[in-house]
Amino acid sequence: MRCPFCSHEDTAVKDSRPTEDNAAIRRRRQCPNCGARFTTFERVQLRELTVVKNNGQREPFDRDKLMRSMTLALQKRPVEPERIDQMVSGIVRRLESLGETDISSRQIGEIVMETLARIDTVAYVRFASVYMNFQAVGDFDKFMSQLRPGPGATES
Ligand SMILES: [Zn+2]
Repeated sequence: MRCPFCSHEDTAVKDSRPTEDNAAIRRRRQCPNCGARFTTFERVQLRELTVVKNNGQREPFDRDKLMRSMTLALQKRPVEPERIDQMVSGIVRRLESLGETDISSRQIGEIVMETLARIDTVAYVRFASVYMNFQAVGDFDKFMSQLRPGPGATES
């Protein structure tokens, strides 16, 4: 598997064991090129989801891709890989529960941002700034002002 940090083509499996709930196999990997360590999970996929991009292109939903972008957003943040995996599973369950096999990339982005916003503000801003592809500082300021909880917002 390709290294998510330096894109080196191959990484070594250091450890492999089932997760606590036995729903997946957890593998610790290390990149021989940059030394980065990361975790992958192997699991059953029950339903095929299709992502419809903004330009109308369609591609199969890729859980690993979602995992990679969340791992990158959460790089060097105090969040365990296993917690990230649970977050990804939660997102996939939400996508599946929409009842549609076609899902827009925008829907996914919004659910990811919602999830990250609850877990880690830094990761949220990292992800959101990439996702929303901010061109102007003005847009970013406007966006940040929307981050502040409004009246009646509840902690969850
Ligand atoms: Zn690497």
